[in-house]
Amino acid sequence: MVNEKGLVESFMELVRIDSISREERNLADFLVEKLEDLGLEVIVDQAGEKVKSNSGNIIARFKGNIKEATPIMFSAHMDTVVPGKNINPLCDGEKIVSDGKTILGADDKAAIAALLESLHIIKKKNISHGDIEIIFSICEEVGLKGAKNLDISELNARMAFVLDAGGRIGKIYTTAPSQNSLEIIIHGKSAHAGANPEEGINAIQVAGFALSRMKLGRIDEETTANIGVISGGNATNIVPDKVTLKGEVRSRKEEKLEKYTEKLKQIIEDTAQEFKAKTEIKINKEYRCYNLSPDDQVVNISIKAAKDIGLQPLLCPSGGGSDANVFNKKGFPSVVLAVGMEKVHTLEEYILIKELKNTVKYILSIINTVASGE
Ligand SMILES: [Zn+2]
Repeated sequence: MVNEKGLVESFMELVRIDSISREERNLADFLVEKLEDLGLEVIVDQAGEKVKSNSGNIIARFKGNIKEATPIMFSAHMDTVVPGKNINPLCDGEKIVSDGKTILGADDKAAIAALLESLHIIKKKNISHGDIEIIFSICEEVGLKGAKNLDISELNARMAFVLDAGGRIGKIYTTAPSQNSLEIIIHGKSAHAGANPEEGINAIQVAGFALSRMKLGRIDEETTANIGVISGGNATNIVPDKVTLKGEVRSRKEEKLEKYTEKLKQIIEDTAQEFKAKTEIKINKEYRCYNLSPDDQVVNISIKAAKDIGLQPLLCPSGGGSDANVFNKKGFPSVVLAVGMEKVHTLEEYILIKELKNTVKYILSIINTVASGE
């Protein structure tokens, strides 16, 4: 039923349209036209103005022909990471890669291509379906900013399928962590390193002591912590007066997240005090966790839809955030589904054509499961 050639061409066309975060406009214009041609009612919301992108989120409505079916929503993000300009996709008949100078952008254009193809098939074959809403979000890669600013008053869906994960089709991510980001500034005191070092407070050394007292990496099964950026100092002959550290804590349990974030903060403050240094610590709640169970309808449907087309469903935890964190928080039970993209955010990113096709089949199977009232 899936037109492989058309699907591959559509995917290649999508990745050739540059859409790095905050510059999604060209892709959005292209998609609005496609969706309207397919007969969907399309709006672009105002989120772009709030997050300094040149486009808003696309919200499209596909009116159902079965009234009783639960309204559902599918989402994918339009933006890509860098290097993501002038992508030149190459296809050997089995696998699609970039030319090695950029990412491929299968994250998340594999999902967009599969959704467009699914809508096309539904229309062409006159397949029965309930109300379907499609969200193409902006700025996912820079902190889920599009989803956070999505105008949900426009939505009727009761659950969401977020098509945005790597791995084989049938993998269903039912839980994801919360994340806090930390920006820590340690203020020491500058002094000439040779003439009067005793008057200085070495901020780099304070940072070093503090870091050596922190446990980082995997804290427990549900919690991780990292300091990923350190910068400071100007010259070898100056006692450095300022160091900035940037890091994050993630946990699938809210209490653990807060507790461990607090612990890191305490270590910094205690160490700084020992050395008479000062600190500024900014903690930002990036996104909140969710934990769905197999009894949740959205999970249930995902499992059944996979089985119905001979795919092995596999429930798994995600280590990172996605638009699903935001949708769950906003009251839409949401799972993240794998769409076959591999090695995302690298120059080796690729996708198998087989998986692109499977994603289309899976989307159609979900729509069919919902339409048949299960
Ligand atoms: Zn993604």
